[in-house]
Amino acid sequence: MEERYGHHMTPAAFRRHGRAVVDWIADYMERVEEFPVLSQVDPGTLRAQLPASPPEQGEPFERILGDVDRLVMPGITHWQSPSFFGYFPANASGPSILGELLSAGLGVQGMLWATSPACTELETHVLDWMVELLGLPAPFLSTGEGGGVIQDSASSATLCALLAARERATAGAATARGVDRPLAVYATDQAHSSVEKAVRIAGLGTDLLRTVPTDAGHGMDPVALRQLVDADLAAGVTPCMVVGTVGTTSSNVIDPLPLIGEVARDLGVWFHVDAAMSGTAAVCAELRWIHDGLELADSYCTNPHKWLFVNFDCDVFYVADRGALVRALSILPEYLRNQATETGSVIDYRDWHVPLGRRFRALKLWFVLRHYGAEGLRHHVREHVALTRELASWIEADPDFELAAPAPLNLVCFRYRSARDPEKANRRLLETLNASGELYLTHTVLDGRFTLRLSIGALATRREHVEAAWECIRATARAGEPDAG
Ligand SMILES: *Cc1c(COP(=O)(O)O)cnc(C)c1O
Repeated sequence: MEERYGHHMTPAAFRRHGRAVVDWIADYMERVEEFPVLSQVDPGTLRAQLPASPPEQGEPFERILGDVDRLVMPGITHWQSPSFFGYFPANASGPSILGELLSAGLGVQGMLWATSPACTELETHVLDWMVELLGLPAPFLSTGEGGGVIQDSASSATLCALLAARERATAGAATARGVDRPLAVYATDQAHSSVEKAVRIAGLGTDLLRTVPTDAGHGMDPVALRQLVDADLAAGVTPCMVVGTVGTTSSNVIDPLPLIGEVARDLGVWFHVDAAMSGTAAVCAELRWIHDGLELADSYCTNPHKWLFVNFDCDVFYVADRGALVRALSILPEYLRNQATETGSVIDYRDWHVPLGRRFRALKLWFVLRHYGAEGLRHHVREHVALTRELASWIEADPDFELAAPAPLNLVCFRYRSARDPEKANRRLLETLNASGELYLTHTVLDGRFTLRLSIGALATRREHVEAAWECIRATARAGEPDAG
């Protein structure tokens, strides 16, 4: 069989190697539990084993794939492991991986409707489905003034929200001439770092990122927000955007959207809601309360690539009125002119995000929604929430541990407390747990105190894994006590 034409891989060879890669992934799914969850390699391990220069001659595919096992796998932290409880879930479900593969196979660039009509229309349609699935406000539907788009990440969504907000706040002047008067952005110290990054990229200046005080539960204080905005208005600073978070990365705090939205509406400030980590929980009707007040938002994003079984990258970003977004980002060079665009009857998604080119990401989201069905998605989200509540109840019942924050969805923040130096004991506990390879947790600092975070949401995680994790945490904590008896 011909392996190559010229230097390219023949379709026949691709078929064979492709099957080997799919088998490789299926094998990995079956044995992911056997690996130490956190990669145990030292810095430089992989690079020391790679040749200094790229190969002059092409190599057989088998050898390349073999090197994945030999060289790459030791340096992998297993996000797909059932005992991965770090950061946030990042699920690569079967249907999602297959959608991703098809997207690569088609190799479509979907910047314009005309460059692949199906790429645009499937995306628009699936994003409208997501509005229904999550019970989002109707203005986010593409059938009105608003609509949704898939972004690579929530960071990009926040940046695009800010560019649209800047466009609206300055009536286009900032887009045309640059930022020539101060524009302020408001968020709490619990908001994601991507808010500050967006402020930097948009050229607003980080000293114009206002840190809104929080209440005892770390949620944004709407009265303090109003005072900050009023003070800025009085000082000649234009309030540009306020960011509310539904499920902060640190501890899953849910900002009071109805009250923030009211201030934003009264004072004419763009209201962006960042629900990257937790918004997808709203597939379950009983969890939709997390979005109370969202009808006041100008824009919203959530990450199916975190907790809706779609592999990275897939952030869904919505605007209630697409006008400002498209005005801020639309540039039509001659070589992209085409009839469909001229008629104004189609969506050209290049005007909805920073890059020009775009992958056919809607395929994997479509595959996931159809494979699971709304019922399947709800089932698994409910399962994660139930496991989280169960773990939180075990922690509460153990006098040596304490919950550091409420656990409304799929994240538990907790501390070991019977140690002499709780700060040091909790740091050491986390290090020891992660070095064991048995499980992987990450940390945050809440109220100035080191806090362990355990996020439940990997595809393969079942009750037995959470139970085993809890046993491991308790045993490790007690073994670490100097006078443990
Ligand atoms: C994870 C997260 C982000 C950033 O997500 P990316 O898609 O990786 O950019 C933003 N906001 C919140 C609340 C998050 O949890």
